[in-house]
Order: sequence, then structure tokens, then C-alpha cells
Amino acid sequence: MAEIRVEHLRKAFGEFVAVQDSSFTVEDGEFLALLGPSGCGKTTTLRMIAGLELPTGGTIRLGGEDVTYRRASERDIAFVFQLFALYPHMNVRKNIGFPLLAQGVPKAEIKARVEETARLLQIDHILDRPVSGLAGGDRQRVALGRAIVRRPMCFLMDEPLGTLDAEFREVMVRELRELHNRIHATTVYVTHDQIEAMAMADKIAVMNHGVIEQFGTPQEIYDRPASMYVADFIGSPPMNFIRFTGGLARGARTARIGAAEVAMPELRADVAPGELALGVRPEHVRFSDASPLRGAVYGSEYLGTNQIVTVETEGGLVRARLPAEQNYRIGEPVGLTFKSERLSLFDAVSGRAIP
Ligand code: ATP
Repeated sequence: MAEIRVEHLRKAFGEFVAVQDSSFTVEDGEFLALLGPSGCGKTTTLRMIAGLELPTGGTIRLGGEDVTYRRASERDIAFVFQLFALYPHMNVRKNIGFPLLAQGVPKAEIKARVEETARLLQIDHILDRPVSGLAGGDRQRVALGRAIVRRPMCFLMDEPLGTLDAEFREVMVRELRELHNRIHATTVYVTHDQIEAMAMADKIAVMNHGVIEQFGTPQEIYDRPASMYVADFIGSPPMNFIRFTGGLARGARTARIGAAEVAMPELRADVAPGELALGVRPEHVRFSDASPLRGAVYGSEYLGTNQIVTVETEGGLVRARLPAEQNYRIGEPVGLTFKSERLSLFDAVSGRAIP
């Protein structure tokens, strides 16, 4: 069992709290992405799991064992950094095999494990090449090979694709996920890129100022964001917020926004009058001439398979993902409708979702 269980983890640097009361579990074989903007505490969380940073409070269990105060070298993990330091004077084979050599693994076993790892990463044809002449993607694979060859209990990765250009990143995202599907090693992956997290992870922890705002599957986080922060961070373009003031009775299916009666999500309890925000993803916005929720086309962005049309409404700008074929004029009046079963409602003051 290579489960990672983190309970009430906290890290303060002097007065500054980088990680606050974080609790989550990465199940055996699961891929977790720690996602959030720069400075939200992702790397600090990962470094505590790795044993490179001592927590101020809380516990870390690896495979059921409390490792909170154990040294990094005594934890069965592989840490993959953003900048891969390969040994430039060694060939691919020696680079991958190095951790095994350091552990005193017999030569024949090193050879077999290096070759097996290279096949897994599809770099078996370059095993005897020097690493100095390799392209970025292959260097990345060699570095991954060096992490995998030890067969650690879990992998911790800190923006490992950060330095790659966009095209390579896409390829590596796919390769990393495929690799995970084959070896099923428990993985914690730090990224600020929501597309990367959505594409790779089984679970995502969205972090904000040292706090985990939401922990769930990519679909849960996309479809049922726990806060406006999460809704805004996930999705490109992000969720639209239509702000309004009012209260809602449990089961009410519509609410008045300006002059229009607008569809609402099904609510489990009454919502006291206050500042609210209706959240709707761009793909759930449609144009309908008959709709009383009016706006004017503000701009459009052609994306090939579809287009993002921005509409100025009384409640602010609303983006709609629409088929690419239709042309819209700037200033053209349009009516908007929302798919009622895909809406979210937020308390616009606290930012929390209203269930
Ligand atoms: P990034 O992607 O920029 O690394 P991050 O989400 O990984 O962001 P952390 O590196 O965990 O964020 O940093 C969280 C906060 O803790 C930051 O404000 C950072 O300045 C602060 N911090 C990190 N390490 C230290 C340290 N050794 N001393 C003081 N403050 C630190």
C-alpha cells in the first residue's frame, strides 16, 4: 500500500503561514494534482511530503507509517524537479541506472531494470547515446526513467514540464498519464496549469493562500466548484458570474435578474436575501431571440472548432462558447439562456457555493 495521508499539515515561515491545516489522502496508485497560482503553498506541501521541509504541525503518513519527522532519504519516494540535473558526461543508460548503482544493486539487475524502464518510456533505442546531445523531451524521459527505475512507493513531481515549450508539454502530459496508467504509482504533481491538472489527475486539490479550497475529481471540480475562486481558476475561459441581489426559496427554479426571469439551479434550502452570483460555464450559454435576458455582442474570438462570443449584459460580461460557423456583429442585440441543470449559485460576499 502506497497511500499518502496528510492530516492538519501546517507550515509557517516566521509569521507567514504558507500552508494552513491541510488534510487529504492520495489513495494507493492515485494521481493527485496540487493546483493553484504561484505562492499558494503547493511546493511547500510537496516538500513536506518529501521530507525536505519540516512541518510546523500535522502528520504525514506514507503507506500507513508516520514519516512526519523522518529524513527524505528514509522515505521511499522519488522527487522529480522542474530542472532535471542529468549527469552530462554519462550516457542515457548510466544516467537511468545511477540510483541503482548508488544503492549497490547487482550489475545484471541494473541492466535489466534500466532496459525495462527505457522500454516503458520508449527510449530504449537511445540508451547508449550521451545525454548532452538529447532534445528536451528525451532529456525529460531520461530524468523520469531515473525516478521510475528505483520503483519507489510514490512519485512527487514539482512542475516537471515547466521548462518545456507548449508543443512538447502537450506530448509529455499525454506520456506522463499513459505512464501512470501502466505503472500505477501513487503520484503528487504540483502545477499552476489547470489544463495539465485536468488532463492528468485522478484528483485535484485546488489551493489558495495555503488552504485547500476544494479536493475532488476533475469533473467534480469543474461541474460543482466549491467557490468562485475554484470556478474562476478552472476552465478556459472561466465560469461566468452573473451578480444579482435577492433571496430564493428552496425549490425555486427561476430568479429575477434585472428585468429578466432567469433559470436557477435546484436549491436544497432557502437562500436569505443578499449579494448572489449565478455561475454558468461558457458552453452552457445559448443565444435565444425570445429570452428576456438581453445583452449586446461585445467581441468574439475564433477558435477553429468553436468560438467564444462575449456579450455585455446588465450583470456584466458573459462569455458563450458557440459553434464557429455563425457570425456576430459587435453591438448586435442578443438574448441569453442558460442550461438550468448546469448552473451554480454562490454567495458573492464569501465566494462560497450555495448547495
Ligand atoms: P510557486 O509555483 O511560485 O513555487 P507555490 O504555490 O509552490 O508557488 P510555495 O513555493 O509553496 O508556493 O510558497 C508559498 C509561500 O511560502 C510563498 O509566499 C513563499 O514566498 C513562501 N516561502 C516558501 N519557502 C519559504 C522560506 N524558506 N522562507 C520564507 N518563505 C517561504
